[in-house]
Amino acid sequence: MTNAHSSAFQEVNQKVSQAGEILGLKPGLISALSTCEREVVISIPLRRGDDVEVLTGYRVQHSSARGPRKGGIRFHQDVDLDEVRALASLMTWKTALIDVPFGGAKGGVAVNASLLTNIEKEEIIRRWTRSLVHVLGHHRDIPAPDMGTDAKTMAWLMDEFHRLEGFQPACVTGKPVELFGAPGREEATGRGVAMIAAATLKKHKMKVEGATVAIQGFGNVGRYAALVCQELGMKVIAISDVSGGIVNNKGIDIAAIFSHKSLETVEADNRVGAAEILEIQCDVLIPAALGGVINEGNVAKIKAEFIIEGANQPITFAADKELRTQGVVIVPDILANSGGVMGSYFEWTQNIQEFSWPIEKFRKELDSRMELAFTNVLEVSKKHSVDMRTAAFVVAVGRVAHAFELRGSLV
Ligand code: NAD
Repeated sequence: MTNAHSSAFQEVNQKVSQAGEILGLKPGLISALSTCEREVVISIPLRRGDDVEVLTGYRVQHSSARGPRKGGIRFHQDVDLDEVRALASLMTWKTALIDVPFGGAKGGVAVNASLLTNIEKEEIIRRWTRSLVHVLGHHRDIPAPDMGTDAKTMAWLMDEFHRLEGFQPACVTGKPVELFGAPGREEATGRGVAMIAAATLKKHKMKVEGATVAIQGFGNVGRYAALVCQELGMKVIAISDVSGGIVNNKGIDIAAIFSHKSLETVEADNRVGAAEILEIQCDVLIPAALGGVINEGNVAKIKAEFIIEGANQPITFAADKELRTQGVVIVPDILANSGGVMGSYFEWTQNIQEFSWPIEKFRKELDSRMELAFTNVLEVSKKHSVDMRTAAFVVAVGRVAHAFELRGSLV
Protein backbone atom coordinates (compact mmCIF):
# COMPACT_ATOMS: atom_id res chain seq x y z
CA MET A 1 0.00 0.00 0.00
CA THR A 2 1.54 3.34 -1.00
CA ASN A 3 1.37 6.55 1.00
CA ALA A 4 -0.44 8.27 -1.85
CA HIS A 5 -3.23 5.70 -1.57
CA SER A 6 -3.29 5.29 2.20
CA SER A 7 -4.10 8.98 2.37
CA ALA A 8 -6.98 8.79 -0.13
CA PHE A 9 -9.47 7.35 2.39
CA GLN A 10 -8.13 9.63 5.14
CA GLU A 11 -8.64 12.64 2.87
CA VAL A 12 -12.29 11.74 2.29
CA ASN A 13 -12.72 11.23 6.04
CA GLN A 14 -11.22 14.64 6.79
CA LYS A 15 -14.06 16.15 4.75
CA VAL A 16 -16.60 13.92 6.55
CA SER A 17 -15.29 15.11 9.93
CA GLN A 18 -15.31 18.75 8.85
CA ALA A 19 -18.89 18.45 7.59
CA GLY A 20 -19.88 16.57 10.78
CA GLU A 21 -18.47 19.38 12.92
CA ILE A 22 -20.33 22.04 10.92
CA LEU A 23 -23.52 20.01 11.41
CA GLY A 24 -22.83 19.49 15.12
CA LEU A 25 -22.76 15.67 14.89
CA LYS A 26 -21.52 13.62 17.83
CA PRO A 27 -17.97 12.20 17.48
CA GLY A 28 -19.26 8.60 17.59
CA LEU A 29 -21.60 9.23 14.69
CA ILE A 30 -18.82 10.87 12.67
CA SER A 31 -16.67 7.84 13.38
CA ALA A 32 -19.46 5.48 12.22
CA LEU A 33 -19.80 7.47 8.99
CA SER A 34 -16.03 7.24 8.47
CA THR A 35 -15.94 3.43 8.65
CA CYS A 36 -16.83 0.92 5.93
CA GLU A 37 -19.62 -1.58 6.69
CA ARG A 38 -17.99 -4.52 4.93
CA GLU A 39 -14.74 -5.21 3.06
CA VAL A 40 -14.18 -8.34 1.01
CA VAL A 41 -10.80 -9.22 -0.51
CA ILE A 42 -10.65 -12.14 -2.96
CA SER A 43 -8.05 -13.92 -5.04
CA ILE A 44 -8.63 -14.38 -8.76
CA PRO A 45 -6.50 -17.09 -10.37
CA LEU A 46 -6.14 -16.17 -14.02
CA ARG A 47 -4.99 -18.71 -16.62
CA ARG A 48 -1.80 -17.52 -18.33
CA GLY A 49 -0.68 -20.04 -20.95
CA ASP A 50 -0.15 -23.29 -19.03
CA ASP A 51 0.35 -21.45 -15.72
CA VAL A 52 -1.76 -19.28 -13.40
CA GLU A 53 -1.37 -15.67 -12.23
CA VAL A 54 -3.17 -14.80 -9.00
CA LEU A 55 -4.83 -11.36 -9.01
CA THR A 56 -6.41 -9.57 -6.03
CA GLY A 57 -10.00 -8.34 -6.21
CA TYR A 58 -12.02 -6.16 -3.84
CA ARG A 59 -15.55 -5.11 -2.93
CA VAL A 60 -15.91 -2.53 -0.19
CA GLN A 61 -19.40 -1.62 1.02
CA HIS A 62 -19.20 1.69 2.81
CA SER A 63 -22.82 2.42 3.75
CA SER A 64 -26.35 1.12 3.29
CA ALA A 65 -28.00 3.76 5.47
CA ARG A 66 -29.91 5.29 2.54
CA GLY A 67 -30.40 2.18 0.38
CA PRO A 68 -28.61 -0.66 -1.43
CA ARG A 69 -24.91 0.02 -1.88
CA LYS A 70 -23.89 1.29 -5.30
CA GLY A 71 -20.54 1.76 -7.00
CA GLY A 72 -18.32 0.86 -9.93
CA ILE A 73 -15.63 -1.76 -10.51
CA ARG A 74 -12.20 -0.57 -11.51
CA PHE A 75 -9.59 -2.67 -13.32
CA HIS A 76 -6.27 -0.86 -12.83
CA GLN A 77 -2.80 -1.87 -11.69
CA ASP A 78 -2.82 0.70 -8.82
CA VAL A 79 -6.06 -0.57 -7.21
CA ASP A 80 -5.59 -1.38 -3.51
CA LEU A 81 -7.80 -1.65 -0.44
CA ASP A 82 -7.30 1.93 0.66
CA GLU A 83 -8.19 3.35 -2.75
CA VAL A 84 -11.32 1.16 -2.91
CA ARG A 85 -12.34 2.33 0.58
CA ALA A 86 -11.95 5.97 -0.45
CA LEU A 87 -13.98 5.45 -3.61
CA ALA A 88 -16.69 3.47 -1.77
CA SER A 89 -17.03 6.27 0.75
CA LEU A 90 -17.24 8.88 -2.03
CA MET A 91 -20.13 6.88 -3.51
CA THR A 92 -22.04 7.18 -0.23
CA TRP A 93 -21.65 10.96 -0.29
CA LYS A 94 -22.40 11.21 -4.01
CA THR A 95 -25.64 9.23 -3.87
CA ALA A 96 -26.77 11.21 -0.82
CA LEU A 97 -25.86 14.54 -2.42
CA ILE A 98 -27.98 13.90 -5.50
CA ASP A 99 -30.66 12.28 -3.34
CA VAL A 100 -30.99 8.86 -4.97
CA PRO A 101 -31.97 5.89 -2.76
CA PHE A 102 -28.56 4.21 -2.65
CA GLY A 103 -25.64 3.83 -0.28
CA GLY A 104 -22.02 3.53 -1.35
CA ALA A 105 -19.66 0.76 -2.48
CA LYS A 106 -16.74 0.22 -4.83
CA GLY A 107 -14.92 -2.73 -6.34
CA GLY A 108 -11.75 -3.36 -8.17
CA VAL A 109 -9.13 -5.74 -9.44
CA ALA A 110 -5.44 -4.88 -9.36
CA VAL A 111 -4.60 -5.54 -13.00
CA ASN A 112 -3.52 -3.52 -16.02
CA ALA A 113 -6.70 -3.60 -18.11
CA SER A 114 -4.93 -2.46 -21.26
CA LEU A 115 -2.86 -5.67 -21.28
CA LEU A 116 -5.84 -8.04 -20.96
CA THR A 117 -7.45 -9.94 -23.81
CA ASN A 118 -11.25 -9.95 -23.95
CA ILE A 119 -11.27 -13.57 -22.81
CA GLU A 120 -9.10 -12.76 -19.78
CA LYS A 121 -11.29 -9.80 -18.90
CA GLU A 122 -14.36 -12.01 -19.06
CA GLU A 123 -12.70 -14.69 -16.90
CA ILE A 124 -11.76 -12.10 -14.29
CA ILE A 125 -15.20 -10.47 -14.02
CA ARG A 126 -16.98 -13.87 -13.91
CA ARG A 127 -14.68 -15.04 -11.12
CA TRP A 128 -15.12 -11.70 -9.28
CA THR A 129 -18.92 -12.13 -9.52
CA ARG A 130 -18.90 -15.79 -8.36
CA SER A 131 -16.75 -14.94 -5.34
CA LEU A 132 -18.90 -11.98 -4.32
CA VAL A 133 -22.40 -13.09 -5.33
CA HIS A 134 -23.46 -13.48 -1.68
CA VAL A 135 -23.03 -9.73 -1.06
CA LEU A 136 -24.38 -8.52 -4.44
CA GLY A 137 -27.92 -8.10 -5.81
CA HIS A 138 -30.36 -5.39 -6.86
CA HIS A 139 -31.38 -4.69 -3.27
CA ARG A 140 -27.97 -5.34 -1.72
CA ASP A 141 -25.15 -3.92 -3.81
CA ILE A 142 -25.23 -2.91 -7.48
CA PRO A 143 -21.94 -2.60 -9.42
CA ALA A 144 -21.33 -0.42 -12.51
CA PRO A 145 -18.40 0.35 -14.83
CA ASP A 146 -15.39 2.41 -13.81
CA MET A 147 -11.84 2.74 -15.16
CA GLY A 148 -10.84 -0.27 -17.22
CA THR A 149 -14.36 -1.77 -17.35
CA ASP A 150 -17.28 -1.00 -19.66
CA ALA A 151 -20.77 -2.05 -20.78
CA LYS A 152 -19.46 -5.35 -22.15
CA THR A 153 -17.86 -6.17 -18.79
CA MET A 154 -21.20 -5.44 -17.09
CA ALA A 155 -22.99 -7.79 -19.52
CA TRP A 156 -20.64 -10.64 -18.47
CA LEU A 157 -21.21 -9.75 -14.81
CA MET A 158 -25.00 -9.85 -15.29
CA ASP A 159 -24.81 -13.14 -17.17
CA GLU A 160 -22.74 -14.77 -14.41
CA PHE A 161 -25.07 -13.38 -11.75
CA HIS A 162 -28.10 -14.79 -13.62
CA ARG A 163 -26.53 -18.26 -13.81
CA LEU A 164 -26.14 -18.27 -10.05
CA GLU A 165 -29.19 -16.36 -8.83
CA GLY A 166 -31.69 -16.26 -11.70
CA PHE A 167 -33.01 -13.32 -13.70
CA GLN A 168 -32.30 -9.98 -12.06
CA PRO A 169 -31.13 -7.37 -14.63
CA ALA A 170 -31.11 -4.60 -12.00
CA CYS A 171 -28.19 -6.40 -10.27
CA VAL A 172 -25.76 -4.24 -12.27
CA THR A 173 -25.96 -0.95 -14.21
CA GLY A 174 -24.06 0.45 -17.17
CA LYS A 175 -25.11 -2.57 -19.29
CA PRO A 176 -25.30 -2.48 -23.09
CA VAL A 177 -28.52 -0.85 -24.31
CA GLU A 178 -29.41 -4.10 -26.13
CA LEU A 179 -29.15 -6.02 -22.85
CA PHE A 180 -31.26 -4.15 -20.28
CA GLY A 181 -29.09 -1.02 -20.39
CA ALA A 182 -30.66 2.44 -20.59
CA PRO A 183 -30.23 4.77 -23.56
CA GLY A 184 -28.39 7.76 -22.07
CA ARG A 185 -26.46 5.93 -19.33
CA GLU A 186 -23.20 5.66 -21.28
CA GLU A 187 -23.01 9.42 -21.85
CA ALA A 188 -24.47 10.39 -18.45
CA THR A 189 -21.29 11.06 -16.45
CA GLY A 190 -19.65 13.15 -19.18
CA ARG A 191 -22.90 14.94 -19.97
CA GLY A 192 -23.33 15.83 -16.29
CA VAL A 193 -19.73 17.12 -16.12
CA ALA A 194 -20.32 19.37 -19.15
CA MET A 195 -23.67 20.66 -17.81
CA ILE A 196 -22.01 21.51 -14.48
CA ALA A 197 -19.16 23.27 -16.32
CA ALA A 198 -21.70 25.43 -18.17
CA ALA A 199 -23.67 26.16 -14.98
CA THR A 200 -20.44 27.16 -13.18
CA LEU A 201 -19.44 29.55 -15.96
CA LYS A 202 -22.90 31.13 -15.94
CA LYS A 203 -22.86 31.46 -12.15
CA HIS A 204 -19.60 33.42 -12.47
CA LYS A 205 -21.05 35.62 -15.23
CA MET A 206 -18.77 34.07 -17.85
CA LYS A 207 -19.91 33.27 -21.38
CA VAL A 208 -20.34 29.58 -22.11
CA GLU A 209 -20.00 30.20 -25.84
CA GLY A 210 -16.30 30.16 -26.67
CA ALA A 211 -15.07 29.34 -23.15
CA THR A 212 -11.85 27.32 -23.49
CA VAL A 213 -11.68 23.81 -22.03
CA ALA A 214 -8.85 21.31 -21.44
CA ILE A 215 -9.66 17.70 -20.58
CA GLN A 216 -7.45 14.92 -19.21
CA GLY A 217 -8.91 11.54 -20.21
CA PHE A 218 -10.54 10.31 -23.41
CA GLY A 219 -12.38 7.37 -21.88
CA ASN A 220 -16.05 7.18 -20.97
CA VAL A 221 -16.12 10.38 -18.91
CA GLY A 222 -13.61 12.51 -20.84
CA ARG A 223 -14.91 11.86 -24.35
CA TYR A 224 -18.58 12.55 -23.54
CA ALA A 225 -17.66 15.59 -21.42
CA ALA A 226 -15.72 16.89 -24.43
CA LEU A 227 -18.55 16.17 -26.87
CA VAL A 228 -21.24 17.84 -24.76
CA CYS A 229 -18.97 20.84 -23.95
CA GLN A 230 -18.61 21.28 -27.71
CA GLU A 231 -22.39 20.93 -28.22
CA LEU A 232 -22.95 23.62 -25.56
CA GLY A 233 -20.67 26.03 -27.47
CA MET A 234 -17.45 25.69 -25.48
CA LYS A 235 -14.12 25.34 -27.26
CA VAL A 236 -12.18 22.19 -26.31
CA ILE A 237 -8.59 23.29 -26.96
CA ALA A 238 -6.74 20.33 -25.42
CA ILE A 239 -7.44 16.69 -24.62
CA SER A 240 -5.23 13.81 -23.52
CA ASP A 241 -5.26 10.11 -22.77
CA VAL A 242 -2.61 7.68 -21.56
CA SER A 243 -0.84 7.96 -24.94
CA GLY A 244 -0.42 11.76 -24.70
CA GLY A 245 -2.36 14.90 -25.55
CA ILE A 246 -3.34 17.06 -28.52
CA VAL A 247 -3.73 20.85 -28.48
CA ASN A 248 -5.46 23.19 -30.93
CA ASN A 249 -6.18 26.74 -29.79
CA LYS A 250 -8.83 27.10 -32.50
CA GLY A 251 -10.75 24.20 -30.94
CA ILE A 252 -10.61 20.44 -31.54
CA ASP A 253 -13.56 18.99 -33.45
CA ILE A 254 -14.52 16.38 -30.84
CA ALA A 255 -17.37 14.94 -32.92
CA ALA A 256 -14.86 14.21 -35.71
CA ILE A 257 -12.42 12.31 -33.45
CA PHE A 258 -15.02 10.71 -31.17
CA SER A 259 -14.83 7.24 -32.68
CA HIS A 260 -11.04 6.92 -32.16
CA LYS A 261 -10.31 4.46 -29.35
CA SER A 262 -7.05 6.26 -28.56
CA LEU A 263 -5.75 9.77 -29.29
CA GLU A 264 -2.63 8.14 -30.67
CA THR A 265 -4.43 7.57 -33.97
CA VAL A 266 -5.76 11.14 -34.24
CA GLU A 267 -3.89 13.41 -36.65
CA ALA A 268 -2.63 16.52 -34.83
CA ASP A 269 0.06 19.17 -35.38
CA ASN A 270 0.55 19.95 -31.72
CA ARG A 271 1.14 17.05 -29.31
CA VAL A 272 1.95 17.30 -25.60
CA GLY A 273 2.60 14.81 -22.80
CA ALA A 274 -0.36 13.28 -20.94
CA ALA A 275 0.34 15.27 -17.75
CA GLU A 276 1.10 18.62 -19.48
CA ILE A 277 -2.56 18.96 -20.44
CA LEU A 278 -3.28 19.99 -16.85
CA GLU A 279 -1.00 23.02 -17.16
CA ILE A 280 -2.62 24.49 -20.30
CA GLN A 281 -3.95 28.06 -20.19
CA CYS A 282 -7.74 27.63 -20.33
CA ASP A 283 -10.95 28.75 -18.61
CA VAL A 284 -12.12 25.28 -17.58
CA LEU A 285 -9.95 22.29 -16.71
CA ILE A 286 -11.62 18.86 -16.51
CA PRO A 287 -9.44 16.10 -15.04
CA ALA A 288 -11.29 12.93 -16.16
CA ALA A 289 -8.75 10.12 -15.78
CA LEU A 290 -6.88 9.25 -12.59
CA GLY A 291 -6.91 10.33 -8.94
CA GLY A 292 -4.25 12.61 -7.41
CA VAL A 293 -3.10 14.10 -10.72
CA ILE A 294 -3.13 17.67 -9.39
CA ASN A 295 -0.80 17.62 -6.42
CA GLU A 296 1.98 19.53 -4.70
CA GLY A 297 4.26 18.75 -7.62
CA ASN A 298 2.26 20.64 -10.27
CA VAL A 299 -0.26 22.82 -8.43
CA ALA A 300 1.76 26.00 -9.00
CA LYS A 301 1.57 25.41 -12.77
CA ILE A 302 -2.23 25.13 -13.00
CA LYS A 303 -3.62 28.10 -14.95
CA ALA A 304 -7.35 27.31 -15.24
CA GLU A 305 -9.91 29.50 -13.45
CA PHE A 306 -12.39 26.66 -13.00
CA ILE A 307 -11.74 22.99 -12.32
CA ILE A 308 -14.61 20.55 -12.78
CA GLU A 309 -13.67 17.17 -11.28
CA GLY A 310 -14.69 14.50 -13.80
CA ALA A 311 -12.44 11.90 -12.15
CA ASN A 312 -12.72 10.87 -8.51
CA GLN A 313 -10.26 12.63 -6.21
CA PRO A 314 -8.12 14.16 -8.99
CA ILE A 315 -6.85 16.90 -6.62
CA THR A 316 -4.94 16.13 -3.43
CA PHE A 317 -5.98 17.79 -0.19
CA ALA A 318 -2.92 20.06 -0.15
CA ALA A 319 -3.32 21.09 -3.79
CA ASP A 320 -7.03 21.80 -3.25
CA LYS A 321 -6.17 24.22 -0.45
CA GLU A 322 -3.51 25.93 -2.54
CA LEU A 323 -5.81 26.33 -5.55
CA ARG A 324 -8.60 27.81 -3.46
CA THR A 325 -6.14 30.33 -1.96
CA GLN A 326 -5.34 31.35 -5.53
CA GLY A 327 -9.08 31.87 -6.20
CA VAL A 328 -9.58 28.85 -8.46
CA VAL A 329 -13.19 27.63 -8.35
CA ILE A 330 -13.35 23.84 -7.90
CA VAL A 331 -16.53 21.84 -8.44
CA PRO A 332 -16.00 18.63 -6.44
CA ASP A 333 -16.21 15.09 -7.84
CA ILE A 334 -19.22 14.08 -5.75
CA LEU A 335 -21.21 16.77 -7.54
CA ALA A 336 -19.48 17.12 -10.92
CA ASN A 337 -19.34 13.42 -11.89
CA SER A 338 -22.58 12.37 -10.17
CA GLY A 339 -24.37 12.13 -13.53
CA GLY A 340 -23.03 8.57 -13.77
CA VAL A 341 -24.74 7.26 -10.69
CA MET A 342 -27.81 9.36 -11.44
CA GLY A 343 -27.96 7.59 -14.82
CA SER A 344 -27.41 4.26 -13.10
CA TYR A 345 -30.35 5.02 -10.83
CA PHE A 346 -32.53 5.62 -13.91
CA GLU A 347 -31.35 2.32 -15.42
CA TRP A 348 -31.96 0.44 -12.15
CA THR A 349 -35.50 1.78 -11.73
CA GLN A 350 -36.33 1.00 -15.38
CA ASN A 351 -35.06 -2.59 -14.91
CA ILE A 352 -37.12 -3.02 -11.75
CA GLN A 353 -40.25 -1.59 -13.39
CA GLU A 354 -39.52 -3.50 -16.63
CA PHE A 355 -40.31 -0.27 -18.44
CA SER A 356 -37.93 1.75 -20.58
CA TRP A 357 -37.64 5.50 -21.02
CA PRO A 358 -36.86 7.31 -24.28
CA ILE A 359 -33.45 9.00 -24.21
CA GLU A 360 -35.08 12.47 -24.21
CA LYS A 361 -36.75 11.72 -20.86
CA PHE A 362 -33.46 10.36 -19.50
CA ARG A 363 -31.55 13.51 -20.51
CA LYS A 364 -34.25 15.87 -19.23
CA GLU A 365 -34.38 14.15 -15.81
CA LEU A 366 -30.58 14.05 -15.61
CA ASP A 367 -30.14 17.74 -16.48
CA SER A 368 -32.83 18.97 -14.10
CA ARG A 369 -31.65 16.82 -11.16
CA MET A 370 -28.02 17.84 -11.70
CA GLU A 371 -29.07 21.48 -11.72
CA LEU A 372 -31.00 20.96 -8.50
CA ALA A 373 -27.95 19.42 -6.77
CA PHE A 374 -25.73 22.24 -8.09
CA THR A 375 -28.09 24.96 -6.79
CA ASN A 376 -28.41 23.21 -3.44
CA VAL A 377 -24.62 23.07 -3.01
CA LEU A 378 -24.30 26.77 -3.90
CA GLU A 379 -26.95 27.70 -1.32
CA VAL A 380 -25.27 25.67 1.43
CA SER A 381 -21.89 27.08 0.48
CA LYS A 382 -23.31 30.60 0.91
CA LYS A 383 -25.10 29.73 4.14
CA HIS A 384 -21.98 28.36 5.86
CA SER A 385 -19.45 30.57 3.97
CA VAL A 386 -17.57 27.49 2.77
CA ASP A 387 -16.19 26.26 -0.57
CA MET A 388 -18.27 23.98 -2.80
CA ARG A 389 -16.53 20.75 -1.73
CA THR A 390 -17.20 21.43 1.94
CA ALA A 391 -20.79 22.43 1.14
CA ALA A 392 -21.36 19.24 -0.88
CA PHE A 393 -20.12 17.17 2.08
CA VAL A 394 -22.34 19.12 4.49
CA VAL A 395 -25.42 18.25 2.40
CA ALA A 396 -24.41 14.60 1.92
CA VAL A 397 -23.18 13.87 5.45
CA GLY A 398 -26.27 15.54 6.90
CA ARG A 399 -28.57 13.26 4.86
CA VAL A 400 -26.71 10.04 5.67
CA ALA A 401 -26.41 10.93 9.37
CA HIS A 402 -30.15 11.62 9.52
CA ALA A 403 -30.99 8.26 7.85
CA PHE A 404 -28.54 6.48 10.17
CA GLU A 405 -30.19 7.96 13.26
CA LEU A 406 -33.74 7.32 11.99
CA ARG A 407 -32.85 3.64 11.51
CA GLY A 408 -31.86 3.47 15.15
CA SER A 409 -28.45 2.12 14.21
CA LEU A 410 -26.84 3.80 17.21
CA VAL A 411 -28.81 1.81 19.83
P1 NAD B 1 -11.98 4.87 -18.74
O1 NAD B 1 -11.17 3.68 -18.45
O2 NAD B 1 -13.13 4.79 -19.69
O3 NAD B 1 -11.02 6.05 -19.29
C1 NAD B 1 -9.88 6.49 -18.60
C2 NAD B 1 -9.12 7.45 -19.49
O4 NAD B 1 -7.99 7.95 -18.76
C3 NAD B 1 -8.57 6.80 -20.77
O5 NAD B 1 -8.70 7.71 -21.84
C4 NAD B 1 -7.08 6.61 -20.43
O6 NAD B 1 -6.26 6.58 -21.58
C5 NAD B 1 -6.86 7.84 -19.60
N1 NAD B 1 -5.65 7.75 -18.78
C6 NAD B 1 -5.22 6.69 -18.04
N2 NAD B 1 -4.04 6.98 -17.48
C7 NAD B 1 -3.74 8.24 -17.86
C8 NAD B 1 -2.64 9.11 -17.61
N3 NAD B 1 -1.62 8.72 -16.86
N4 NAD B 1 -2.65 10.34 -18.17
C9 NAD B 1 -3.70 10.74 -18.97
N5 NAD B 1 -4.75 9.96 -19.23
C10 NAD B 1 -4.76 8.74 -18.69
O7 NAD B 1 -12.46 5.45 -17.32
P2 NAD B 1 -13.72 6.37 -17.01
O8 NAD B 1 -14.90 5.50 -16.75
O9 NAD B 1 -13.79 7.46 -18.03
O10 NAD B 1 -13.29 6.99 -15.60
C11 NAD B 1 -12.41 8.09 -15.50
C12 NAD B 1 -12.53 8.70 -14.10
O11 NAD B 1 -13.88 9.12 -13.87
C13 NAD B 1 -12.20 7.75 -12.95
O12 NAD B 1 -11.63 8.51 -11.89
C14 NAD B 1 -13.57 7.24 -12.52
O13 NAD B 1 -13.58 6.82 -11.17
C15 NAD B 1 -14.39 8.49 -12.69
N6 NAD B 1 -15.83 8.26 -12.85
C16 NAD B 1 -16.32 7.44 -13.83
C17 NAD B 1 -17.69 7.27 -13.95
C18 NAD B 1 -18.30 6.45 -15.07
O14 NAD B 1 -19.53 6.43 -15.17
N7 NAD B 1 -17.53 5.81 -15.91
C19 NAD B 1 -18.56 7.90 -13.06
C20 NAD B 1 -18.04 8.73 -12.09
C21 NAD B 1 -16.67 8.91 -11.98
